[in-house]
Parts: sequence; C-alpha cells; structure tokens
Amino acid sequence: MKPKNKFQQQIVEASKTLPSITKEQIQWGYDNAISYVGQRTKGGKITCCKCAHSWQGMGELINTLLGCECSNCKSKLIIKASQKRSFNDSYYMTVIDAHKGYQVVRTIMLSYTTKVGKLPEYTYSEVMQRWIAPNGKHCTFARLRQTMGTMYYDLWLFYTPLELRSENTNNKYYINIYDRISTGAVYLKQKLIPELKRTGYKTALYNQKPLDLYRILLTDSKAETLIKTKQTKLLKRILDMGWKNIDNYWQSIKICIRNGYTIKDATLWCDYIDLLRFFGKDLHNAKYVCPANLKAEHDRYVVKKAKADALLEIEKQLEREDSYREAKAKFFGLIISNGLINIRVLESVEEIIAEGKTLKHYAQYMVMRSHLDNTQNINPIYSKRYA
Ligand SMILES: [Zn+2]
Repeated sequence: MKPKNKFQQQIVEASKTLPSITKEQIQWGYDNAISYVGQRTKGGKITCCKCAHSWQGMGELINTLLGCECSNCKSKLIIKASQKRSFNDSYYMTVIDAHKGYQVVRTIMLSYTTKVGKLPEYTYSEVMQRWIAPNGKHCTFARLRQTMGTMYYDLWLFYTPLELRSENTNNKYYINIYDRISTGAVYLKQKLIPELKRTGYKTALYNQKPLDLYRILLTDSKAETLIKTKQTKLLKRILDMGWKNIDNYWQSIKICIRNGYTIKDATLWCDYIDLLRFFGKDLHNAKYVCPANLKAEHDRYVVKKAKADALLEIEKQLEREDSYREAKAKFFGLIISNGLINIRVLESVEEIIAEGKTLKHYAQYMVMRSHLDNTQNINPIYSKRYA
C-alpha cells in the first residue's frame, strides 16, 4: 500500500536503508528458535534431525515424556516414534533492531526440511516488521499471506514484497493478524532507540509482544516508574491483566513506592487492593496498602467478603418471598412421612435460609464427629433429627 501520511512516508523512506538480517542472526535462529525432531525407530534407535547423529535411546516412555538431548549437537529434541523418513517445520524468531530513530521489531520465519540421517535444508524469510516511533506510533511492513481456502492466517507468500500494509485500527471488529504472529525466540543482542533505553527497559519482555510493551513504555511513564522502582512483578501482572487496569491501582502503587514496599506477589496484592476497594478502605493509606503480612491480610478480607456476599444473597432471596409463596402455597401444610422421616415444603424463604444454616452447621459437626471417632455409628444422630 502507498503511504497515506507523513509518518508512513518517513518510515517507508527509512526502510529503504534498513540493513538485511545477518547470517549470524539467522544461524542463531537455526540453533535456538527451532525445536528439532529426534526420530525414534521401533528398535529404539534415535536420530537427531539437526545433526544426523544417531544412537540407541532409553525406554520409549522416558524419551517421549522427558524429551532428550542430542549427545552430539546438544539440541533438545522432540522425540517422535515414527516410520516417517522426512520431517519439516517452521518457527518464528524476532530481531529487535533500531534504525533512523525508529524501533523495529523484525519477524523472521525459519523453516527446515530433513531426511533422517541427512543434514537439514534450511530456508528463511523476513515476513514482518513493526516500526515504532519514539512517541509510540507504529506501522507495519509485511509480506502478503494466502487467505483463500485455508484456515491458517500465516501462510506467507514469500515471493511478495515486504512492504507497508494497512491496519484497520479504527474498526473495532477488525482482527489484526499482525498482532497475532508469535514472537518465537528473541535474538539476544537487542538494538534499542535511546527513548526506550531511558525507560529502564533492558531485554525482558514480561511475556508480552514487543510492540505492545514498547508502545506502553514509550507512552506511559507509569510503566517506566515500575521498572525503575523494581516493581517488575507488578508491571508483569498489570500487563497480563491489560494495561488500562493500571489506573485502578496507581494511587496505591505510589504509596508503596514512597514507603519502599516492594510487591513480591503481585496477583495477591492486586486482589487485596480490590477487596480494600470493595470495603471502602482508604487506598492512599500505607496502613492498608503496605501490609506487613500480605497473605494474612488478604485472607482476612476474603473471609469478610464471603460473609458480605452471603448476606447480600439472603437479602436478594428475601425479596423473592412473595413469588415463592405464590408458587408453593398449595403444598403448605402437606407432610409426607414414613414414620422415620418427615418431608414437608418450607413455608418461607426465611425458613429455607434458617434450615440451610442449620444443615451447614450440622454437616460441619458431622465431619468433626467422624474425624474424632470414625468408628462411631453416626446414624443415631441422623434419626434423632429427622425422626
Ligand atoms: Zn544432534
């Protein structure tokens, strides 16, 4: 597609001088981004599909479950018990590059084909580039993909040019395929623009796609603050939840930072803050948001919340009293009995709740009794109540 604005024009211009992916980078990909097959014959002979080395393996189950490492090339192999003589597969790798002031996330597809006992043949193709400006704006270069007659969204057409493609970001129903392409192994040496370096970012992606993480780091100083104050567990947790959730916690996070309180279990802490919010506690108060024993305080509020939920449920049910009476009134007063057990319809919601509570306590009591003395016949207690 032709560039539609100045920003895209500038990137198209910059892309013309972007150096090619180097041989070293591709070789690194072949060595680190691909999971090679270890073909296992019926007799237990294993052949490494990367270096063609073969040897007598251990038991099939051990090799299949635990995988195994080639003693020659040290690759971790996926063991396949198969008569198949040839294998092929494709993997992604990502190179983090910088060019002309832009951060470039480059996606390469690596493919290998091999016949058992022979060295593999490799091909690779750079299929996608995400160009990110220091202000977080981005655009995408990619090859075309086969879209007709296939359920796969990444059947790249390698003969098509790697060029600017449209991303219909204004349409909320649009599924951005480029966001779905997996990152694969990330080349160890990353080139960063100074604006990204300044945020404290080193190499950790916190389980995010590089584009998403970089755009957040470049546009929201809160992410930078979390990295610089070593609250990276919290950063990861909120990225996982969706970054927009940061605003729900930011006031409390600031209190933690001010008090030198490092959050070690971010999932628990966020959950705890949600509970404090539910009970209307002051989320600016270190007494609440920096507990010495997070687990204990969290659990205390969980119990409190369960009680509050139960009360709310009772109130809701009591509101339904009229419709309950209407539906069941014709059975009121009716008792079915065999002399031991009496069955009758409870005549109000309140009665149901009371009965529910008794039964719950009773059940707890029974469990306790059976723990105390599991030889005792508990039937007499049953009959005492129901006779
Ligand atoms: Zn090998």
